[in-house]
Amino acid sequence: MKVAEPTIERLVQYYRLLSQLKEEGRRVVSSQEIGEMLGLKASQVRKDLSYFGEIGKRGVGYHVDRLHQHVSQILSHPNVWKIGLVGVGRLGEALLGHKSLRSEKFGIEAAFDVDPEKVGKTIEGVPCYHVDEMPEVLKEKNIEIIILTVPAGAAQHAADKAVASGVVKGILSFATAPIAVPPGVLVYNVDIAAELEKLLFYLKSPAKEH
Ligand code: NAD
Repeated sequence: MKVAEPTIERLVQYYRLLSQLKEEGRRVVSSQEIGEMLGLKASQVRKDLSYFGEIGKRGVGYHVDRLHQHVSQILSHPNVWKIGLVGVGRLGEALLGHKSLRSEKFGIEAAFDVDPEKVGKTIEGVPCYHVDEMPEVLKEKNIEIIILTVPAGAAQHAADKAVASGVVKGILSFATAPIAVPPGVLVYNVDIAAELEKLLFYLKSPAKEH
C-alpha cells in the first residue's frame, strides 16, 4: 500500500496520542477529540482512519486499544501477542508446554493459579503467579490475550481479574461455563466435546451435507 508522506506523519501523531491515551486508561476516543488534541480537522482524522479500514462508531468513536494496535501494525511496530494462561492443571500445563503456542507472533508470558504448589514456580519455562496478582501482572507485562483452563466455577472470577487489568482484549476459554465480559473484549470458546458431538452426528448420518 502506497501511502503519502503527510499521511504517515499524521499516523505517527495518531500513534503517539493513542499510546498516551492508552497509558491513561482511556477506552474510547472520537475523531473530534483526536482532531482537537492534534490540531487537525475531525473530517481529516476520519478520512485517514477509514482509508486504513477503521470506522469509528457514530456517537461513540474509536476503541483506543484497537486503534492503537491497528496504527501500530500499519507503522510496522513489532507486535508479538503476549498470552497469559489461567489454570495450570492437566490441560493448562499441556498447553504451556506445547510448541504450537510459541511462535514469532505470540508466546505465553505468565501463568496463574491458586494452588500453592504451583504459585511462585516456573512451569514449562513460564512463571506462575497467584490469580489475585493478575491485574497487576497483565498490565505490567502488557498481556492482551488470556487462555482460560480453570474449572467452570472459577471461570467468571478469572475473567473478571483479567478484565480488571484494563489491557486484555481477548479470552480463549476452555472452561465449560459462559463468561460475561464488557464490550471491547472478545471471548472465543473452545469445546472439544461439542466438536466430538458434531463428528459423531456426521458419522451416524453419512448422507448429510456438511
Ligand atoms: P484440572 O483440575 O487439572 O486443572 C484446573 C487448574 O485450575 C488447577 O491447577 C487448579 O489449581 C486451577 N484453579 C482452580 N481454581 C482456580 C482459580 N480460581 N483461579 C486460577 N486457577 C484455578 O482441570 P483440567 O482437566 O486441566 O481442565 C481445566 C478446564 O478445562 C476445566 O474447566 C475443564 O472442564 C475444561 N476442559 C475443557 C475442554 C474443552 O474442550 N473445552 C477439554 C478439557 C477440559
